[in-house]
Amino acid sequence: MCLTIGFDFHTQGEEQPDAFLDEFELQQMFDSTRRSLGSALERSFHDVVCGEHDRAPGFTVTGVYDRGTEVMDIQYHVDTCCQSFLLRVMQVLNKRA
Ligand SMILES: [Zn+2]
Repeated sequence: MCLTIGFDFHTQGEEQPDAFLDEFELQQMFDSTRRSLGSALERSFHDVVCGEHDRAPGFTVTGVYDRGTEVMDIQYHVDTCCQSFLLRVMQVLNKRA
């Protein structure tokens, strides 16, 4: 099966003169976050398919880094073939520490 994972990482706000992360470090942080979230999703969902449609879930992970507060907000958007599988995927997603 093939898990579909898309990432949409971007920044918001003005760059701070004394920013904790410069542009290069920010991109590195995005890269390592993509890698760790991607492999965590693959681990959690490697054997999770819809029992009725035999389809794997799709994920879009949105990460917004606020340059003002220097906080990264991560959200998961889940695509599934049907409503009941969506509920199961959400359960697995919420169980992850
Ligand atoms: Zn289904």
